[in-house]
Amino acid sequence: MEKVIIIRYCELHLKGKNRGYFERIFAVNMERALKGVKHEIRRQSGRYLIENFDESETEDIISRLLKVFGIHTLSVALKVKSDMGEIFAAASEVSQKSGTFKVETHRADKTFPLNSMQVSAQIGGRLLDVYKGLSVDVHEPQNLVNIDIRENGTTLVFGSFIKGADGMPVGSAGKGLLLISGGIDSPVAGHMIAKRGMSIECLHFHSYPYTNMQAKEKVIELAEVLSRYTCGTTLNIIKVTHIQEEIHKKCNGEYMVTLLRRFMMRIAEKIAIKCGAQCIITGESLGQVASQTIEGMTSSNAVIRSLPVLRPLCGFDKNEIIARSKAMGAYDISILPYEDCCTVFLPKHPVTKPKLSDVEAEEAKLDVEALVDEALGTLEIVKI
Ligand code: ATP
Ligand code: MG
Repeated sequence: MEKVIIIRYCELHLKGKNRGYFERIFAVNMERALKGVKHEIRRQSGRYLIENFDESETEDIISRLLKVFGIHTLSVALKVKSDMGEIFAAASEVSQKSGTFKVETHRADKTFPLNSMQVSAQIGGRLLDVYKGLSVDVHEPQNLVNIDIRENGTTLVFGSFIKGADGMPVGSAGKGLLLISGGIDSPVAGHMIAKRGMSIECLHFHSYPYTNMQAKEKVIELAEVLSRYTCGTTLNIIKVTHIQEEIHKKCNGEYMVTLLRRFMMRIAEKIAIKCGAQCIITGESLGQVASQTIEGMTSSNAVIRSLPVLRPLCGFDKNEIIARSKAMGAYDISILPYEDCCTVFLPKHPVTKPKLSDVEAEEAKLDVEALVDEALGTLEIVKI
């Protein structure tokens, strides 16, 4: 009797001609998630089986697979010969020993001498004989015993279905550049877009020495959390200290955040094009803070020439974002204290509804191109 993991995927089957393309990416992503762990992945009629792993590593394998987008459900199963004696032995291992249950049989092998109803009835009857605390409930059983008789002479027997991450395989929908700060929102934004199949590369801006090294370490940690879902990522780090100093020195302080955002977007577009990303992703949520108004977004969008900006959190409340942050495992890191570069030189009264012409007039006091080029020269790249 061998332990295996059944992987059922979602949506992929909808993609018609592209199915092969999606499946190849999906299989590569599973391999990457299981890197360093002994295993074999095998395709089996519309699903995958993980085999030949150490049973002691089952939980680790499951927890890694739960982060792979595209997986609908998983089951830990016992693989036996298609023989009623062996099937019963596996069923009694898988079965709970008390409570209500139901045996469900699927028979792909039509040469198997019993039909699925007969298999369910016989195995169920024998389980009832052995475990006196069990009773059958076909409508709302507390537990299931699933028997899957395959065409190749083997049968898979399993209990529960574990819910997977759903979504599309990362890498099947292009690549985006995520503006990642040390806050709660941006890692969640990256996670949401990755779930729809996009590869994610990250960009962080710091204002060292006004922001400290811990702030940078924190962002690296957040990118690591995200990378478990995105099959790795690259973190680009750019210093915007001089830009902030120049804005502080030469412009109306109320425009600090608005102007800095425009610099961030200009730099982001250049980095995105360099790394082959087809869009920019931010963690902005409409109305969450003074700078996240539609006017603020209009002002920062205005400097982008060719790429769309995705803001997946725009329609979310903070508590919904926090729930997602906790679920992805980023929250405890995100709430560690840190200084974002935006909070350095923060004005008492930032403009909330900047008029584009006023923003441009303030910006005209700066040598924008030189500042952007200088910032690009500070690029550090961390592979995660
Ligand atoms: P977050 O929780 O992601 O920091 P926030 O609610 O604090 O978001 P802001 O600080 O106004 O909002 O930032 C809005 C968005 O701008 C962020 O979600 C992120 O995408 C981007 N951003 C802000 N600061 C930085 C930074 N230092 N480096 C990279 N991107 C940033
Ligand atoms: Mg922030």
